[in-house]
Amino acid sequence: MTRYIFVTGGVISGIGKGITTASLGRLLINRGFKVMVVKIDPYLNSDAGTMNPFQHGEVFVTKDGAETDLDLGNYERFLGIDLNRYSNFTTGSVYSEVIAKERRGDYLGETIQLIPHITDEIKSRIYQLGHDSDAEVVITEIGGTIGDLEIGPFVEAIRQMAMEIGRENTLFIHVSLIYTLPGGENKSKPTQHSIRTLQELGIQPDLLICRTSQPMDEGMRKKISLLCGIAEQYIVEGHDTDLVDEIPLNFERQGMAHLVIKKLGLGDRPPIDTEWAQMVHKLKHPKHHLQIALVGKYVTGSDTYLSVKEALKHGGIANEAAVNIKWVDSEALIDHPHLDEVFKGINGILVPGGFGYRGIEGMIVAVRYAREHTIPFLGLCLGMQCMVIEFARHVAKLKNANSSEFDNETPHPVIDLMPDQQKQSELGGTMRLGLYPCVLRENTKGYAAYQQPIILERHRHRYELNNRYRDRLESEGLCFSGLSPDESLVEIGEVVDHPWMVASQFHPEFQSKPLAPHPLFRDFIHAALCYQQQHQVADRPVTAPMGESPDQQLSE
Ligand code: GLN
Repeated sequence: MTRYIFVTGGVISGIGKGITTASLGRLLINRGFKVMVVKIDPYLNSDAGTMNPFQHGEVFVTKDGAETDLDLGNYERFLGIDLNRYSNFTTGSVYSEVIAKERRGDYLGETIQLIPHITDEIKSRIYQLGHDSDAEVVITEIGGTIGDLEIGPFVEAIRQMAMEIGRENTLFIHVSLIYTLPGGENKSKPTQHSIRTLQELGIQPDLLICRTSQPMDEGMRKKISLLCGIAEQYIVEGHDTDLVDEIPLNFERQGMAHLVIKKLGLGDRPPIDTEWAQMVHKLKHPKHHLQIALVGKYVTGSDTYLSVKEALKHGGIANEAAVNIKWVDSEALIDHPHLDEVFKGINGILVPGGFGYRGIEGMIVAVRYAREHTIPFLGLCLGMQCMVIEFARHVAKLKNANSSEFDNETPHPVIDLMPDQQKQSELGGTMRLGLYPCVLRENTKGYAAYQQPIILERHRHRYELNNRYRDRLESEGLCFSGLSPDESLVEIGEVVDHPWMVASQFHPEFQSKPLAPHPLFRDFIHAALCYQQQHQVADRPVTAPMGESPDQQLSE
């Protein structure tokens, strides 16, 4: 019988429910349990696909082409599994489904209400996921904060589930904030109020995770236990850390997984897998320190490129290197008089995915700098398109070459709308999305990375290399080392006359995992290490571990 764990958040948004969910999942997987996860988002959008990444963070793409919340990326990385579209749903999608059923007449004349129709739809999705995945444990994360009006139906649905499947088969985890006053004193009152609100909604949390910046003392633990009805040992401290991968180990030290499986009557399985701990050890004891410039238009919102940031870290793990990210605002590079200053000490340049013209010319400046200075370069989706435009303009001498996304009048649309995108009128869910195969050409850097002829990668794009320019660009030294099986779409491009300048139309970052670094990121970081060694830039310790926080930003 499947057990259900529900994770809610208190006091503030962005409290770390996603990482908590992913970390608990990791600990259960470490004990050999079969785990499935689902994230519920309380907003009205059908999915995350049309949302601004600056406001809401990266749009993560699953293998079956769903555009989801970034927490699915955290789940996949921590659990080491691939999820599908059923692991994320929104208020918008629940209401759409219920209204569609009503229009079809499925409800046979009933009055359609929040309870039971909306709550039934929510419950059936969670049950269905447990059933289809055959998981021993399903962890459901409820987005938003307890007390928000918009999460009411979800809280009600999970309360009903506990009643239906038995309290002994369900576990409620609340992640809440212990506020530290400027003087250093910890305060638990906001957490007490949040739990009180949860109790008013009919839910008594079994386990509390206290997010803190200062260690909690025994007195506070006792007080919360007494006032909120949670046994002391079920109050877990989740203190701030720069290294999210360390959080499962921190929870394990506090016996969290043991408590969870005991409470759910799952017996006492000891951890059988130490791979994660070994990976964290490697991460914390790097032999090398690298500096990679990430050139994008959203430099201040670090969650915008979350999977890229994580994949760079994974590439570092594979090379025993700490990767520090220098966030470079692409717009600031346009007509910048001192590019040497901007890229001083940089061992590799990465241009990630994106949409719209803002910042593009600056990305092209960065591509050119990487090409001309033989700095290792990795381009992802839009990054590949920028690499092609730069090469077309400055090597193939195709004046004003561009993507038709940015300039409809360009004389050389080297990047153009894919033919089957011409007829799309809606924005949501209509791109080329999800896994597609790519055939690799032997004796290329692409092939060297994967060591196999056919790969599957995740996509999210409308534009593509214009085949009219393929021969011209190839004759000038751009190698198309990965193509769709029918050869109609270019999937990987590389500059032949360069130590390592590779770009993909797909998004390799979505498949990279700490225990399985992606081959392109691994080879990019390896090339960056070689560049560093050749240029004798002394290894220097970095302040921020593994690119967790922007250290220097170029903003104007
Ligand atoms: N805007 C480009 C396209 O639609 C690139 C998309 C991306 O980087 N994900 O093709």
